[in-house]
Amino acid sequence: MSDIKKIEWEKLGFSYIKTDYRYVSHWKDGQWDDGELVSDNRLCISEASTALHYGQQCFEGMKAYRTKDGSIQLFRPDENAKRMQRSCKRLLMPEISEEKFIEACKKVVLANEKYVPPYGTGATLYLRPFVIGVGDNLGVRTAPEFIFAIFVSPVGPYFKGGLSPVNFITTDYDRAAPQGTGAEKVGGNYSGSLMPNKMAKDKVFADCIYLDPQTHTKIEEAGAANFFAITKDNKFVTPYSPSILPSITKYSLMHVAKEYLGLEVIEGDVYIDKLDEYAEAGACGTAAVITPIGGIEHKGKMHIFYSENEVGPVTKKLYDTLYGIQTGDVKAPEGWIYKLS
Ligand SMILES: *Cc1c(COP(=O)(O)O)cnc(C)c1O
Repeated sequence: MSDIKKIEWEKLGFSYIKTDYRYVSHWKDGQWDDGELVSDNRLCISEASTALHYGQQCFEGMKAYRTKDGSIQLFRPDENAKRMQRSCKRLLMPEISEEKFIEACKKVVLANEKYVPPYGTGATLYLRPFVIGVGDNLGVRTAPEFIFAIFVSPVGPYFKGGLSPVNFITTDYDRAAPQGTGAEKVGGNYSGSLMPNKMAKDKVFADCIYLDPQTHTKIEEAGAANFFAITKDNKFVTPYSPSILPSITKYSLMHVAKEYLGLEVIEGDVYIDKLDEYAEAGACGTAAVITPIGGIEHKGKMHIFYSENEVGPVTKKLYDTLYGIQTGDVKAPEGWIYKLS
């Protein structure tokens, strides 16, 4: 248990803080049990678990937000539930029903209520649901048993600096194959990203830009976040590809751009040698929210978007509207907000 009084909400980064309870459910003999809240943050599993050897695991990332009136809400958890079902299906793991998934989220957040950061601090409670293949097994096959668990941790911004721009650099490595598992949130996609990420960080970039694995001419992802850009005539453009992880934040931003800001929205190609068409760019995801991209280095040349030090006006409006919806200050589209208290 962490000393709650010592947490300085405004200074939190994106790191693990042990909270009081986590939710754990087991699958055996064809069904999930009811699941329970436990205080031990360690799992005891077989050394032969498929999650450890063959990467049979998937995860989600979500947040619980404190509103001005002190209540707590989740943002589109039904979408995370559906995406986790797709990940499970792809890796031959048993799916979790939307109902069970959302109920588990509610339980674990309410049990750790005191860790939900106060409104206005910029911090939120991050939820990490995951499914792992466990049990005794040796050959490459699906596991005999599974665990579905959710832990939570209070977090600040994913990229240091919040709404101040960060720089990215392209990498020659791919995070996913064209018909691989890039569109599923599975652990295997991320172990391979550690090295390109380190190479970018060693050169003082926030992370690397992944290009499309087939032609290496189009932007796919900004590290572990989706990418968007604003054209000089105010269109919201974001890449489309079967190897991009379908970000719920990105699809929400597309809606916000169109319905709240009146921008034209295009899901299409963003060529790395045509960045001059864009006035602003950003990385988006639950953890990153929106992080403005100051510039992108590609083949030794740095392209600067709006500014290296300042967030652009459209990016700022997108951020304020989305974060306003998530924290209850802006009216949300029907069905986006799940109130917990
Ligand atoms: C999780 C993730 C995202 C962001 O998805 P959200 O649903 O918006 O949180 C983007 N890219 C990658 C590679 C991810 O793993």
